[in-house]
Amino acid sequence: MNPDPIPYAHQDISQTDVEAVVRVLRGDWLTQGPSVPAFEQAVAQSCGAAHAVAVNSATSALHLACLALGVTAGDVVWTTPMTFVASANCARYCGATVDFVDIDPCTWCMSAEQLRVKLAYARGTGRPLPKVVIPVHFAGQSCDMMRIRQLSEEYGFRIIEDASHAIGGTYGRAPVGSCAYSDITVFSFHPVKIMTTGEGGMALTNSTELAERMGRWRAHGITRDPARFARPSDGPWYYEQIDLGFNYRMTDIQAALGHSQLSRLQEFVDRRNVLAEQYDAAFATLPIQSQQRPAHVRSARHLYVVRVAQSSRRGLYEHLSASGIGVNVHYIPVHLHPDYRQLGFAEGQYPQAEQYYREAVSLPMYFALSDAQQERVIGEVRRVLMQPARAA
Ligand SMILES: *Cc1c(COP(=O)(O)O)cnc(C)c1O
Repeated sequence: MNPDPIPYAHQDISQTDVEAVVRVLRGDWLTQGPSVPAFEQAVAQSCGAAHAVAVNSATSALHLACLALGVTAGDVVWTTPMTFVASANCARYCGATVDFVDIDPCTWCMSAEQLRVKLAYARGTGRPLPKVVIPVHFAGQSCDMMRIRQLSEEYGFRIIEDASHAIGGTYGRAPVGSCAYSDITVFSFHPVKIMTTGEGGMALTNSTELAERMGRWRAHGITRDPARFARPSDGPWYYEQIDLGFNYRMTDIQAALGHSQLSRLQEFVDRRNVLAEQYDAAFATLPIQSQQRPAHVRSARHLYVVRVAQSSRRGLYEHLSASGIGVNVHYIPVHLHPDYRQLGFAEGQYPQAEQYYREAVSLPMYFALSDAQQERVIGEVRRVLMQPARAA
């Protein structure tokens, strides 16, 4: 008899979560009711940020964040090639050009040193400097924000943290999302992430102006604030579209689920950290490289990635998959997708990200993964990697 399959990621929905959603379904507001601002305030407070704008996905939050910072045609935005495509696509939605900064070979986050080198080269050769840089907190682990912030002051760019993997993590004493080192931080509430609203995302900021813009553009560019009206009010029904926005709203159904999930965020992150430490310990003597974590960072542990010899990667993936163990690869470097190659990107441009990609496998990592299930994963990884090397 085959044991039950183990997914690589899974949401954890409690009875309390179900009841919170049902209460909204039986109430008066399915969208644009009181649950969205309540959820926004709760997340902002837990992160220590002044404002939060809930939207229907992190992709939408990244788009609004770029727009709020004035990204437009002719601008350049830099991010990492080792991320989900949405971190780069957001700049293209605004008509801007995307470029990439290679990863650090040990932390797998955008390399602050490569960023410094690329900025100095651009300035020295008269190439365009970025208007916005989007570091991605890879696998839940914060980038070197202090260093990136210093560079932003030297080179005059703005910062959007793509923290889709990292809600519940910390950088120094600051929770990820505090925006202590950035203009805007974005979270994703997709079911594979740390906590979920089904689909959903949020943008946090300490700027009243940026929050106001993102809030307006999430709902068509409409304002009901008389202080912002361009024309005299026609009456109490009056509102104005003052610029072009979108329908990126989060529903009250989603917000109620998110608010309920938020109460278990630390529990989720604690368990993920225990699982990650157990994987680290079990793999210490195997030919595996795990993500290097600086001491002052607490990762939210969205993913647990192992790097193995390029020659073992496919075998490991296929063996685990055939054993009913959910595996994945995060990520195909963004610049190697056909839609980016047609913009001129090519293999060889970001060697650290490309080498990482040839060696990486994501193992199961989620709140409800039991110790016994994790033992099974570890046993199968061992079985593949302890096989004596075959002669080539
Ligand atoms: C999941 C993810 C996104 C997109 O999130 P959605 O909520 O699905 O739009 C963006 N960036 C990164 C790094 C992600 O992992």
